[in-house]
Amino acid sequence: MQDYLKGLNERQRDAVTSTEGPLMIVAGAGSGKTKVLTTRIAHLMAKGVDAFNILSLTFTNKAAAEMKERVEHILANREARNLYIGTFHSVFARILRAEAHRIGYPNSFTIYDTDDAKSVVKTVTQELNLDVQHYKPNAVYNRISGAKNGLVTAGEYKNDYHIQQEDMRANRPMIGHIYEAYQKRCFKNGAMDFDDLLFKFYELLKTTPEVLHKYQHKFKYIMIDEYQDTNPAQYEIIKLLAAAHENVCVVGDDAQSIYAFRGATIQNILQFQQDYTDAKVIKLEQNYRSTQSILTVANEIIKNNKGQIPKTLFTENAAGEKIRLVRTMSDNEEGKFIADAILEQKLRNHFKNKEFALLYRTNAQSRAFEESLRRHNIPYTIFGGISFYQRKEIKDFIAYLRLVVNPKDEEALKRIINYPVRGIGKTSVDRAVLAANEGNISMWEVLEAAPMFGFKAGTLQAIEEFVLMIRSFKSMLETKNAYDIAFHVGKQTGFVKELFNDKSTEGVQRYENVQELLNSIKEFTETPMSEESGEVGDKGLAAYLQQIVLLTDADQKDPDADTVKLMTIHAAKGLEFPVVFVGGLEEGLFPNAMSLNTREELEEERRLFYVAVTRAKTRLYLTYANTRYRFGQLIQSDSSRFITEIPETHIDVSFAGGGVKNQKSSSWGQGNAFERMQRGFGGNSSAPEKTAVSTLVSNNKPKEVAHTASANFVPSDPATLKEGMRVEHQKFGFGEVLKLEGSSHNPVATIKFEQNGEKKIMLNYAKLMIV
Ligand code: ATP
Ligand code: MG
Repeated sequence: MQDYLKGLNERQRDAVTSTEGPLMIVAGAGSGKTKVLTTRIAHLMAKGVDAFNILSLTFTNKAAAEMKERVEHILANREARNLYIGTFHSVFARILRAEAHRIGYPNSFTIYDTDDAKSVVKTVTQELNLDVQHYKPNAVYNRISGAKNGLVTAGEYKNDYHIQQEDMRANRPMIGHIYEAYQKRCFKNGAMDFDDLLFKFYELLKTTPEVLHKYQHKFKYIMIDEYQDTNPAQYEIIKLLAAAHENVCVVGDDAQSIYAFRGATIQNILQFQQDYTDAKVIKLEQNYRSTQSILTVANEIIKNNKGQIPKTLFTENAAGEKIRLVRTMSDNEEGKFIADAILEQKLRNHFKNKEFALLYRTNAQSRAFEESLRRHNIPYTIFGGISFYQRKEIKDFIAYLRLVVNPKDEEALKRIINYPVRGIGKTSVDRAVLAANEGNISMWEVLEAAPMFGFKAGTLQAIEEFVLMIRSFKSMLETKNAYDIAFHVGKQTGFVKELFNDKSTEGVQRYENVQELLNSIKEFTETPMSEESGEVGDKGLAAYLQQIVLLTDADQKDPDADTVKLMTIHAAKGLEFPVVFVGGLEEGLFPNAMSLNTREELEEERRLFYVAVTRAKTRLYLTYANTRYRFGQLIQSDSSRFITEIPETHIDVSFAGGGVKNQKSSSWGQGNAFERMQRGFGGNSSAPEKTAVSTLVSNNKPKEVAHTASANFVPSDPATLKEGMRVEHQKFGFGEVLKLEGSSHNPVATIKFEQNGEKKIMLNYAKLMIV
């Protein structure tokens, strides 16, 4: 038996060696699905299948790179670089680069990111004389995106009775028209948005039989990881591509389907067996990733979902430590607890920074975590959020590069036509856009023929110089690599100099960012390429631009750096870490308030929780805060319903912050963990040794804080605290309450501290415990 098969269990081996015909592997988290897929590629190649004939679709580009590396490692050769492997978007973009002309696009088409796309939506909405306050670009874009992922064309959209009814009900009957105008404008700009990479690819396959035939025969073996999250467009494309050979292997876990909001549906998993009636189905049931404690909790969570394909998941790993459930008073305290726990684990168990991951439901939650990690000098990396490529100076610079590749790209053109300033003001730009619309030509074509369009003499000269400059860059495309062109563009346009001359702190930062961008372009030109000429291995500017625009959140940072990783749960899919913290387990946040309308939505949130929990190998912490700033307001929340779904015997409950040392509370009376913790805090039944009188979030809204903090979990009226009681203050130490006064909203105690003498303490603000 080949070495790479030896480490696998029997079912995994079966999955790897069943190479012919349709195969579906449905299996729980950490059961080796991705490992099987990787080994299967190696196995195919070991059997003599050419790497060029294997298509493998992954969830992130990084996962693709890792897969290639592993295959290279297993086979001890470099053939794997010739695999067609990547995300749906990047693989289809690569093919579209070669074939787009067949559906009327230039092969050098630009890929619009969501910002560009929304900007075009806004432009065409305004041109249709519709109010962008009512037809909000974001909402309209999402609707168009949904349509495309469902393979609904603008024509179908406008003519579909049910879609129209829905838009009428939402009082936005014109979305179909915006959709149509948007597609037209993108086409004119020689641009595709992310959804077009699927939508147009599908159109390409459907309308050009020779292209379909070519790729059907090229891709003799097709593999898809994270199959549960494929959307209808992806599904149909795969079906088309696989039709000739039907060697299609999909790998997924219905319990981890977390993109229903983007049009993905586990229907795909169910449909597979109907579409391929002779499909072989393999279930993997042994989890190799997590301890028994973690796996038991994961199983308990997912049990609460009704719509599941039944399967069991067990592990032979050690029982491990109990899951820790930690409650804190505020998001800041939550961050502090996590930072402390990381330091403690590093000391006790010699973990490295990179062995910790901090997962959350929404990007906004990272702020409090970041602050406390910084304060504790713990190095971290945030995935997602505002990315490097979204910074203004980077987008501006890239706009130049985009324009060089595709001068029809109106979004790029508008961005930099007058930056650095060259005397082509807004009036002239508006005139150019109008002329382009009227003549049904691109804005660039208007500029090229500027003398015909009545610009003022000074402007005309500036435009002509600009056109000449861009053309001169364009002439380099055939002969120079991406870096050489970018360097030249930075210099000739005055772009880099402009930033260099700005000596403000921000200016210096912007300059450094652009230098960093140039470095990364250099790195791109120096990485090895596929042997298939003229394709993605190409080191040209177009290939570079394509690569960066298709980076996913998870792709943008180095996962190997020795830093604590912060990311949303969505971005953590498929990954694993020795120690995982899942923060913000509060009703309204997780499950998210936006996702509580239907059972389906709630079940998706629960699957997301399942994904979070199953990232952990040895230790798992679940945390939640009673108060948190959201949308500029201090919000009071209850713990997540998901916590109550975990049997208390499996968790170790504690409270952190407010001056109280971590307390085990599993012996407090009856009920589930959550109820017991609530009681412990309210102080109305079996109270813990110490009762928090008041713990406070220091933030810049003290009034509101005081009010909310006292309204619920903190006994605010002086009745709880009695004269003569002994208390501990976080800063002043132990003392005795001498006197209570003030209003019920703002109770004040006079306390005589042993070390610090008599002080008047506002109970809503002080960190005070009864001892
Ligand atoms: P997810 O559902 O989270 O994507 P998965 O099913 O893809 O998980 P993998 O990531 O492939 O699971 O595997 C989980 C872990 O278990 C990895 O560290 C992998 O190396 C390990 N593993 C898988 N199979 C085996 C095996 N037979 N022997 C030892 N370790 C294994
Ligand atoms: Mg996986």
